[in-house]
Amino acid sequence: MQHLIHTDKDKNAKKVKELKEKAQDKTIQQLYHKGEEEKASAMANKYNLPYIDLSLISVVSETVSLIPKEIAKNAGLAVIYKVGKKLQIAVRDPENYETKKALEKIKTEDGMKYTLIVVSEYSLKKAWLSYDISTVTKKFEDQGVTLRQEDLTEFEKGVHNIIDLKKRIAEINTTEIFNIIMAGAIKTKSSDIHIEPNLDYIRLRYRVDGVLQDIVNLPIKANRTILSRVKMLSKMKLNVTDMPQDGHFSINLENKIINVRASILPSSFGESIVMRILSEDSTGLKLDELGFNQYYMEKVEEQLLKPTGMLLVTGPTGSGKTTTLYSFIRRLNQPNIKIITLENPVEYRLEGISQTEIHPDTGLTFSEGLKAVVRQDPDVVMVGEVRDSETAEISIQAALTGHSVLSTLHTNNAAGAIPRFLHLKVSPALISPSINAIIAQRLVRTLCEHCKEEYAPAQETIDRIKEVISKIPKNKVMVFPKDIKTIYRSKGCSKCNFIGYTGRIGLYEMFTLTQNIEKIILKSTSASEVMAKAIEDGMITMQEDGILKAIEGVTSLEEIRRVTGEIFVNKF
Ligand SMILES: [Zn+2]
Repeated sequence: MQHLIHTDKDKNAKKVKELKEKAQDKTIQQLYHKGEEEKASAMANKYNLPYIDLSLISVVSETVSLIPKEIAKNAGLAVIYKVGKKLQIAVRDPENYETKKALEKIKTEDGMKYTLIVVSEYSLKKAWLSYDISTVTKKFEDQGVTLRQEDLTEFEKGVHNIIDLKKRIAEINTTEIFNIIMAGAIKTKSSDIHIEPNLDYIRLRYRVDGVLQDIVNLPIKANRTILSRVKMLSKMKLNVTDMPQDGHFSINLENKIINVRASILPSSFGESIVMRILSEDSTGLKLDELGFNQYYMEKVEEQLLKPTGMLLVTGPTGSGKTTTLYSFIRRLNQPNIKIITLENPVEYRLEGISQTEIHPDTGLTFSEGLKAVVRQDPDVVMVGEVRDSETAEISIQAALTGHSVLSTLHTNNAAGAIPRFLHLKVSPALISPSINAIIAQRLVRTLCEHCKEEYAPAQETIDRIKEVISKIPKNKVMVFPKDIKTIYRSKGCSKCNFIGYTGRIGLYEMFTLTQNIEKIILKSTSASEVMAKAIEDGMITMQEDGILKAIEGVTSLEEIRRVTGEIFVNKF
């Protein structure tokens, strides 16, 4: 596609022509007072083409970049989807002169086929944003966010403290680059720092609210300095370069200690580094800050009052299960209640609770630990994760013998916990008596309060949202939106490092083991059948929970789609 050449035309003449065409077009003119999206939808109708709102889906930058930026912008189009030699091209106006000219050229490319889809001006601009992979980087530099002297000074103080403490300053090659990387990560509230050497540069990325962001490409020579600094701080072997290593260190910052877990892995271009910043902020969340809707909040409160039985939280790695369990534990933590946890590893200390760390390599497995814990006569036991038959069996026994057991499982949805337990050889007859409730969760980023943008989507988008809402089981405690006129989309400002989102919130689905569910478990192992029954009992799915949150403006539909999958019928 690279030889698709942009020919310079008299831009003014083009604009005049466009304006004349528009003025003649009464259909479009009549829609002048409607929203931008409604206009794009009408344009699509006029030409009998599909319409899409790109605020609702994320576009891959590799796809958009198939056509050079200047050409795409001049022609008012963006490639948003590609399978083999078939392209889906988003255009604002299919009859625009420049658009048609560029499309003609694409046709002449070797075997390329395309279909058109009409989008709004806003959607096009959003797609074009993907040309700037390093948008974030540039913005960081423009704003000086990571490099503000006061932050660095604060930060330097902290590092000096550690170094003084360890009396290792003389051994460390101090250059500012490492400090800047750490200060930047802390300032942007990143959870992880990724430093990956390539052939001629080092890629630096931060994970912010669960999503990796490109920050900057560093010169290759910086890697040695950063590596030795990380290895030194986390007590790794400096001379070992061909083996994975891990360790941890801490940073004193503004009277706060930040723990960092570092991991080094040899790769073809040198050792790559990942540093996880263990911030206590998220594990300190209170129950009502997690994002449970009113209906689930009442159910959770009710479940936490039960003195026996199991409460399970399921989801993939990084879905916030541990944070949820910690907030349950915090809620239950009272002087007259004995709580013991088994964790791998213990990342955060909770006051008044005995936390035991699992060490599978030395024989202290979850199941061994659990056997010992039960003998300690606890009221509440938190088991980090149920992943083998023995742990499943002992947890079930503990739940049946007067203990409240909290644990997590690695399944995609709440219903999936049932077949997982059966797979771990738990008898179907024991599941319903021992498990009280199952929760599944995901985390979505929340829209930045300072820059989120309210907009009027096209009528067809609203109709689809209403259709989804109409299928959500109704309940007595929640008020469901009836008339939807606007929703929210991300924008980006200096407060959110131009990402458009700050912080995260949980999406949940939850069901209790009713008789309805019990009957199914006794005769079937299918997660979808359990799910259907749970919905019959009133379960709101994670995606539905997300759509309700998007309507409230807490997050965007694009984010719900990223995390829970397709919401709208795929037009491709
Ligand atoms: Zn913002």
